[in-house]
Amino acid sequence: MLVLLDRDGVINVDRPDAVKSLDEFRFIEGSLEAIARLTHAGYRLAVVTNQSVVGRGLLSEEGLQQIHDYLVHAAAHAGGIIERVYYCPDHPDRPTQRRKPAPGMVLEALADFEAEAACTPMIGDALRDLQAAHAAGCPYYLVRTGVGEAALVAGLPDEIVPRAICSNLSEAVQHWLQNPL
Ligand SMILES: [Mg+2]
Repeated sequence: MLVLLDRDGVINVDRPDAVKSLDEFRFIEGSLEAIARLTHAGYRLAVVTNQSVVGRGLLSEEGLQQIHDYLVHAAAHAGGIIERVYYCPDHPDRPTQRRKPAPGMVLEALADFEAEAACTPMIGDALRDLQAAHAAGCPYYLVRTGVGEAALVAGLPDEIVPRAICSNLSEAVQHWLQNPL
C-alpha cells in the first residue's frame, strides 16, 4: 500500500520563485501530522516532485538533497516514514518522461514499491500532478493549497477527475483513509 505525494504546495509552502534553499523550506500546517497518519495506517510513502530549480541552475543536487534529508527527518520526528523522494531536475524547456505531467516518476515509484496503480493515490496541487497520476492509472486528489486553487479557477480538463478536491493534505489523507480503493 503506497501513497504518492507531491512536495511543493502540498507538504511545504510553495514559492513563486521556487524553494531554492533549506531556509526557504516551510511546512504547511498539518502536513507532517498527515504524513504520520498515513504511516500509522500502514501506508508506505514516496514523494514525487519536479525540481526544475536544479535544471535552471538555482540549486545544486547537494542543496536539494539537504532539503530532502530535512524533510525525511522532520517527518520521522513527527512519526511519518517517507521512504523515497523521487525528483526530476529537468529544465521546463527540456522535459523528459520523468517530468510531470509525464508519468515517468510515478511509474518508477510504482515499480520500485511493486504497487498497483489503481490503489495508489497521488496527492497534488497542480494540474500536472493529476495528469501524471492519470496517465499512470493512479487515482488522485487535488488540494487547494499551493497552486491548487488557481488550478481550479483555470478549470480542470474533462478527463481529469480527482477522487476529491480537498482543502489541504490533512483532508485528502482523511478522505483516502475513509475511502480507500
Ligand atoms: Mg506542487
